[in-house]
Amino acid sequence: MNTSISGKIISVVLPVYNETMNIIPMYEMLLNVISKVNAIAELIFVNDGSSDNSLEILRGLAEKDKNVKVLSFTRNFGHQAAITAGLDIAQGDCVVTMDCDFQDPPEVILLMLEKWSDGKKIIYGRRSLRNDGFFKRMTAKLYYKILYKASDIKIMGNIGDYRLIDKSVVIELRQMKEKNRYLRGMVPWLGFSYDIVDYNRPNRKYGKTGFSVIKMSRLAMAGILNFSLLPLRLGLIMGIFIIATGMLFLCYLAIRFFFDDQFYKLLEWLAVVNYILIGFLFILIWVVAEYIGRIYDEVKGRPLYVIESKININQA
Ligand code: UDP
Ligand code: MG
Repeated sequence: MNTSISGKIISVVLPVYNETMNIIPMYEMLLNVISKVNAIAELIFVNDGSSDNSLEILRGLAEKDKNVKVLSFTRNFGHQAAITAGLDIAQGDCVVTMDCDFQDPPEVILLMLEKWSDGKKIIYGRRSLRNDGFFKRMTAKLYYKILYKASDIKIMGNIGDYRLIDKSVVIELRQMKEKNRYLRGMVPWLGFSYDIVDYNRPNRKYGKTGFSVIKMSRLAMAGILNFSLLPLRLGLIMGIFIIATGMLFLCYLAIRFFFDDQFYKLLEWLAVVNYILIGFLFILIWVVAEYIGRIYDEVKGRPLYVIESKININQA
């Protein structure tokens, strides 16, 4: 096996929301996988306000095995918050984030580790086969298409939160304090060298999905709003369209008036002028939106740049 991995600490962050049946098999499988490369596993389970007895099971595990670490939220804060909490305490040389329901097959970690030892800082898991229902597959496809077109950085489709990131990436990610978190955008935003591992996504092993349509839409909104200025610019597009068509109407009235001796009442002229004015209003809304966009950018407090390496510079 790859010697550059042996002895390294590999953290695995698993958000847990009502996963009673999955926790123990997942734990055993992960230990098995990580022992294959002679590495040390740090398993971080983040209980996201489960209402079943997931927490008791995790307590039991943590008592037996000191490498099992458990964070437990007071209530359900959501999957992105759970992953973030895990990343904040992870001490590994690299950190794998994955679902706790076997939909992110644990053996894929071995492929990720191999690419990591080749020097890549981020290894994304890409679902080549989705066993999700028709509705979820279709909406996901459409959504990623829009997101890809609209976002300023290229967020690839079919890439979820199953990924391995190097410690250096974790450190940078901790600097990104934005509250509306969309890690699928934040990680690529950071830059860093990356690679992709394809895997087939099976059905969830036990239990049922904790992702309601509302939770899903919230995540989808975060993706678009946090990584694209397109919605803000709708006002500009509307404004230009209305002013342009308004001008055409005005020209039409003027030509009929001057050349066809067609008489228009004042009200009819005003109607067209009003229409054009609405266009200007849209432009104004867009201007305000641009300012709001800038304020949003500032308050997100993302770092201005990310440095991967320094040469001949000694300060820490
Ligand atoms: N999860 C979570 N909080 C939630 C919903 C889900 O921590 O509010 C966890 C869940 O335990 C699992 C992962 O996030 O480990 C993915 O959730 P799920 O399998 O329910 O989503 P799906 O695969 O259906 O999109
Ligand atoms: Mg799942």
